[in-house]
This record gives sequence, C-alpha cells and structure tokens, in this order.
Amino acid sequence: MHDSPPAGITILGATGSIGVNTLDVVSRYPDRFHVVALTANTDVEALAGQCQRFRPRYAVMADPDAAQRLTDRLRDTAADVRVLGGSDALMEVAGLPEVDCVMAAIVGAAGLLPSLEAARQGKRVLLANKEALVMSGALFMQAVRDNQAVLLPIDSEHNAILQCMPDNYVAGQAPRGVRKIMLTASGGPFRTLPIAELARVTPAQACAHPNWEMGRKISVDSATMMNKGLEVIEAGWLFDLPLEKIKVLIHPQSILHSMVEYDDGSVLAQLGNPDMRIPITHALAWPDRIDSGARQLDLTAVGSLQFEDPDKERFPCLGLACHAWEKGGTAPAILNAANEVAVQAFLDQQIAFTSIPRLIEHVMEHCTVHDAASLQAILEDDAAARCQARDYIGSGRMQASS
Ligand code: NAD
Ligand code: MG
Repeated sequence: MHDSPPAGITILGATGSIGVNTLDVVSRYPDRFHVVALTANTDVEALAGQCQRFRPRYAVMADPDAAQRLTDRLRDTAADVRVLGGSDALMEVAGLPEVDCVMAAIVGAAGLLPSLEAARQGKRVLLANKEALVMSGALFMQAVRDNQAVLLPIDSEHNAILQCMPDNYVAGQAPRGVRKIMLTASGGPFRTLPIAELARVTPAQACAHPNWEMGRKISVDSATMMNKGLEVIEAGWLFDLPLEKIKVLIHPQSILHSMVEYDDGSVLAQLGNPDMRIPITHALAWPDRIDSGARQLDLTAVGSLQFEDPDKERFPCLGLACHAWEKGGTAPAILNAANEVAVQAFLDQQIAFTSIPRLIEHVMEHCTVHDAASLQAILEDDAAARCQARDYIGSGRMQASS
C-alpha cells in the first residue's frame, strides 16, 4: 500500500504513443496517481475514450473545433469532464495547483510552451518532448532551477544515463567524475540498406522501426538519426556536458539504453527490454521502484549485444545536429524547425527521404542565428526557419537536384 495521497497528473499528448503508455502505468496504481488533465491535438475519439475511462477534471483539445466536438461527444457519457480548447488551455492544465506531475509528451515545437510552463510552476516534469529542450535548453533549465522543478527525462537513453549518475545527482548539474556518456542508437530501419536505395524509401518503411513502436515523427527521426542528433543536444542540456563528452554508439538490439563512463574507467549501463513503460515508470515513481508491466529481460534469449560507430555518410542528420549544438544560440531551434517541416514533407510524399538532410542544411545556411536568451527570439527563428524550408520545397529546386 502507498501512504501519501495520490499525485495529481497532467498528461500533455495523452493520445500519443508516450501518452498511452503513461496511462497504462497510471491505471495500475489508482492509490498513487490521479489523472487531473488529459490533452490531445485533434483526435477526439481517442481522447473521449480516455476521458470516459479516467474521468480527468479537464480535457484539452489544442484544436478549438475539436474541443467543441469533444464537448458534444462527452455530453451523455462524461459530462463532469471540463473540456477546454486552444493552446492557452494546454498551458493552464500544465500549471494547475492540484497537479504535482506533468508528463510532457506532445510531439515537436508545439510542446514547448506547455512543457516550459510545467517547469515554471515547479512541477515534477517528465520530459518526453525533447524538442522543447533542443529549442530552449538554457531557458528551460533556468526555469527548472528557479522554480525547484524536478526534471526527469523520459527518453530511454537519458533516463538510462540519469539512472547511472552518482547518488543524489539532479538534472542540470555537471556530474562529478564523469569522463563521458555514451548514447546508444538502434540505427533504425535503414542501418544496413544499400545507401543508393535510401532515396526511394517510403514513409511506411521509414516508420517501421525494428525495436520501438512510436509516433510517426520520431520514427522518421530515428530512420535519419536526427533523433540521436536531437538527443545529443538534449543530453548536453540535461547533464551539462560539452559535445566531446557525448558519444553516440549504434546498438541494434536496443537492450542497453545508454552508459556513463567514469574517470576511474568504470562504465555503468542501464539495460531493459525496449518498452517505454520502463523509463515512464521510473520517472513516475521516482525515487521508488514499482512494476512497469514490462516483460523481464532474458539475456540468454537476446544472446549477444552489438556495438558499432555510426556511419556519417548514411546519417548526415547526426552531423548537422552536432554542428547546430556547437554553433549554439538559436541554431538548434532552427535545425529543429527545419527538421519538422522536412519530416512532414517526407510523410506527405512531397520530398524524398534523402532530401530531409539537404533541406535542413539549406535552412541552416540561410537563417541567421541569434542569442537564445528570450523565448521571443527562439520562436521568431523557429518561424523564420519554417518559412525558409517551405519556400525551398515550393521553389522546386529540391526535386530538380535530387
Ligand atoms: P505521437 O505522435 O504518438 O503523439 C503526439 C501527441 O501530441 C498526441 O497526443 C497528439 O495529439 C499531440 N499533439 C500533436 N501535435 C500537437 C499540437 N500541435 N498541439 C498539441 N498537441 C499535439 O508522438 P510520441 O511518439 O508519443 O512522441 C511524443 C514525444 O515524446 C516526442 O517529442 C518524441 O520525440 C518523444 N519520445 C517518444 C518516444 C516513443 O517511444 N514514442 C520515445 C522517446 C521520446
Ligand atoms: Mg530516445
């Protein structure tokens, strides 16, 4: 039995892959967790089903028309749920006084403001929305420090690293005695495909990840390895480490989720089956340990673990992200915005898979990088990068040279 009253939880992006996994864990522990608010973008049916089951006080649809449809949909079945619409409402439910813990699991830049609001209100922030940290790492970490928020990463690699850090380590501090961290990456669905065939891969192939079931955007990011690039930047902010102390290793089995190497030569790793309920449960229950529902790891069934260096020619996005991190300021926000437009264009079959890095490179060459000290500067450069990317797609020059 759990003694304290249940923790109030807001799940931003409740209908997505991380949101659904979070609710799966929460549903196992009604005495520990109580759902205060659930949010989604446009999927009324999915959020309606979750509202009927979990009876949150608030349900938010980022899209106001969808909010109206959700109100109609819940009138007879869950009229006690207050339905709100629009992006301000996302921020409101991230900062409610009765909320202790916010799962920030909106995909992309759309998650920045509500995730940041959770930090500003001093919540326990379970951060899956890596794009928020990529865009505004300095501001985000400052908000965490200033408001005594507790930041726990949900990304399996960063969660693994946190678990391997010294006792009492908190995110944002420079860890003592750490020589480097090693982020593992599966290499995605195209790790061994002949490079000449990459130009013709389809969205369905790119989204068929060998080990993880995830939303479409992060699945494409995993296939280009931009995901690992974003994670390098995320790790830089979370663990206050420079680029030379962050190494990326391909590990196709996705069993070892990352490692910390100490000055004395010790290397600590966290292992587990590829199931996001493990990092989600770690962060929800922290510092306790409770059952996540994940299958137990059977290492003899896995047999062997392989590691190799990433192939820079196959995965140019990784280099682009490292370059943006070194450049600093709003460069990572520009990279992220260009990537979001490029991935959507690829999913909409407007550009080829191999045009994703080319488009990002073009945008990075043509956008001016500013100091990232204000949210306004970050959002302006995000918007400028999106315009630049759309113009380049619209110009037809990508198709002509592919
Ligand atoms: P998803 O596409 O499955 O779900 C995204 C959620 O965000 C949905 O609930 C959707 O309604 C909501 N959303 C989308 N656009 C929105 C908008 N404009 N405004 C408000 N809400 C919006 O994505 P996911 O795979 O669950 O990933 C969510 C985040 O977690 C991403 O940042 C991703 O990088 C990160 N992450 C995911 C995984 C994973 O295993 N899925 C692992 C590590 C990190
Ligand atoms: Mg990850």
